[in-house]
Amino acid sequence: MKGEKRYDLIVVGGGTAGTLCAVAAARSGLKTVVIERNAYLGGMATGAGLTEMNAAGFQGKPLYKGIVDEIFREMIKSGHAQYHFAVPMSSNPDVKVDRLRYDPEILKIILEEKAIGAGVEFLYETEACAGIEEEEMCRVTVRSRYETFELEANYLVDATGNADLVRMLGGETVRASRDKLLTATMMFRLSGIDLDRLQEFMRSGKISDVIQKGYQEGVLKGRILAFTPIPGSSDVSLNVTRADCDYEDAEDYSKAAACARSQILPVCRFIRENVPGTENCYVTSISPFLGIRDARRIRGRYTLTLGDLENMTDFEDSIAVGCYPMDIHDPETKAVIWKVLPGVYHIPYRCIVPGKLHRTIVAGKCLSAEKEAFGAVRVMPIMMNVGESAGYAAALAKQEEKCLDELEAGSLKEWLADKYENVLREDGHE
Ligand SMILES: Cc1cc2nc3c(=O)[nH]c(=O)nc-3n(C[C@H](O)[C@H](O)[C@H](O)COP(=O)(O)OP(=O)(O)OC[C@H]3O[C@@H](n4cnc5c(N)ncnc54)[C@H](O)[C@@H]3O)c2cc1C
Repeated sequence: MKGEKRYDLIVVGGGTAGTLCAVAAARSGLKTVVIERNAYLGGMATGAGLTEMNAAGFQGKPLYKGIVDEIFREMIKSGHAQYHFAVPMSSNPDVKVDRLRYDPEILKIILEEKAIGAGVEFLYETEACAGIEEEEMCRVTVRSRYETFELEANYLVDATGNADLVRMLGGETVRASRDKLLTATMMFRLSGIDLDRLQEFMRSGKISDVIQKGYQEGVLKGRILAFTPIPGSSDVSLNVTRADCDYEDAEDYSKAAACARSQILPVCRFIRENVPGTENCYVTSISPFLGIRDARRIRGRYTLTLGDLENMTDFEDSIAVGCYPMDIHDPETKAVIWKVLPGVYHIPYRCIVPGKLHRTIVAGKCLSAEKEAFGAVRVMPIMMNVGESAGYAAALAKQEEKCLDELEAGSLKEWLADKYENVLREDGHE
């Protein structure tokens, strides 16, 4: 890495939340860099076989504004995404969610274009391995394949998905589950599908019997068999493998990854025999890593509760909205526990401000929330909305020459209202 590197903002983690944070900050004038372990942006959304933005809409209409909306519109316009309203969830058809189905490879390209367009710098195949907050600035030690170097910035955003950076900085974090192993999934993609026949079968409701059969035979390790068609192709992505693990233990994680991968071919054979439209299907890609739904979160200035979501509390410092129901994958019963929530709920800024730290906030799924509330807010569109607002918050802190934990609710609210309006106006629609 040539030369000294000084930024306004370092974002560690270039998942959807980190990328939107960086784009928002850079568009607001901050010199911004993203440190990303992979060689692409998007994290789970682009690299793990996910293809559905859950609760991207509410009651049959798109829910989000700003950069989230901009990205969704671009993917739709090019034929690589589509809204599907009131889609029944495979583990409980009574629960219906408005979703945006998308092609993850195209999202990779769009996120990168957005970052480059906004002037965001990014360092791929680099990892933050240490960090320190000082009174006037922050330092992050970054390791790439061939070198280790230090970057400096006024502000930091932890968008690692598991509060890696906050931990390095000495901030307080909480493990999702101390005593129980967590259910992880390795997604995969199938080609050679007759989509019309598959969709007809899914509509018939007979999939529940197939899930029951697969579970009894031991081929399905959980009570779920979700096929998601990928727009622009005749492929589907499958959320079906299950492996319980302590994701922070290298040996345990590795065994779980092998265990999940070993389920893929038997599942493939099972569905070919039991699900019409899949008779000639074959595996075309497997996620390179296990998806851990609920990892480590920060202990923030406020911890979001299920009550907040049920009451749709409109916080003074609200920065993001969502409407996804609570959806927890229980490692003991292997069932998905659902709780439908009454409407659009809010996430306050204080949930992304870690206790004890001043110049660091988080973006994405390591925000401060109780397990049940996290089970609802953890999905991609909500985390993208949180990420975007985190980027604007960093820009406000720079403008007001304040630390990130000093922002006042009133000025943040005004600033966000202005930012989201501007983005819409620039885009030419309201
Ligand atoms: C199995 C599974 C299925 C899911 N299905 C859906 C679904 O269908 N629909 C939906 O809307 N949501 C789904 N989700 C939730 C979705 O994955 C999250 O909402 C989303 O990934 C959160 O984005 P993020 O940017 O916070 O985190 P991530 O996507 O995890 O991004 C974090 C990024 O940080 C990088 N990183 C981590 N540590 C470091 C470090 N030290 N240095 C540098 N880089 C680092 C990682 O490489 C990664 O790119 C699912 C989650 C799982 C686990």
